[in-house]
Amino acid sequence: MSHDGRFAPSPTGPLHLGSLRTALVAWLAARSAGARFLVRIEDIDPQRSRAEYEAGALADLSALGIDWDGQPVRQSQRLPLYDDALGRLHASGRLYPCFCTRAEIREAASAPHGALPEGAYPGTCRDLSAAERRRRIESGERFALRVRADAQRVDWRDRLLGDCSGVVDDFVVVRTDGVHAYQLAVVVDDAAQGIGEVVRGADLADSTPRQILLGRLLGLPRLTYMHVPLVLGRGGERLAKRDGAVTLAQRDEPPQATLALLAHSLGLASGRDRVNGATELLEEFDPELIPRAPVSFS
Ligand code: GLU
Repeated sequence: MSHDGRFAPSPTGPLHLGSLRTALVAWLAARSAGARFLVRIEDIDPQRSRAEYEAGALADLSALGIDWDGQPVRQSQRLPLYDDALGRLHASGRLYPCFCTRAEIREAASAPHGALPEGAYPGTCRDLSAAERRRRIESGERFALRVRADAQRVDWRDRLLGDCSGVVDDFVVVRTDGVHAYQLAVVVDDAAQGIGEVVRGADLADSTPRQILLGRLLGLPRLTYMHVPLVLGRGGERLAKRDGAVTLAQRDEPPQATLALLAHSLGLASGRDRVNGATELLEEFDPELIPRAPVSFS
């Protein structure tokens, strides 16, 4: 089985300490298994992505001694791969156009819908007739493309979160503005790049059932997952600008000190106030040492 890993930042802002910590875990997990480590720039949303954030992310990784194999790939240059996957989903009858507005979904989703989780898409447009679909498309109504998921339950054993499970609603694979959805791109890319283990922030654990199901529908190899508990800010919320020095550039200390801080939060480098590079942590790294609860640096 492949242990190849990746870090897949969206270049929509500077990396904060939580993302750097996740990148470090992803790198340690792959490299301690002797596997490849790839960087993928998830710039699929052209409105929100900026080249300067991509450059900043790569510079931050390098400053911590996190290296990667080959050139980073950019999702914006891989659109044909996503279209190919869409073609396969379409051919198997899994896609349908959804004309719902955000407000309509919010309203419909607030009523209970059997096994579906709260806020799930209740399937309003799932069973429209072919004629109705054609009429609405021809009249110029905007639509997203959703995958018919049949409210399937998906289980996985997460290396940090333990046994996890979720019911999948019909989720979007192409947005109303025509942009491929994160869920689609990430699944296609992880498979195309030969990733074996997905390491990322625990805020994305909710997406995992959808991605596992999508992988199955596309006949892709199954992955293993490690969702890293988040770094929280002072108020117990997600780390944000208001929490002060949350990016490498904002820290009033050399990167070696920030790396030590990150290492301590992973149960590593005890008693050291400098770590010269991620390689210094390789020998000691053990996922068992990672706290299972969110951590705070303040
Ligand atoms: N691009 C996503 C993010 O920056 C991460 C996607 C993933 O690791 O699956 O939040």
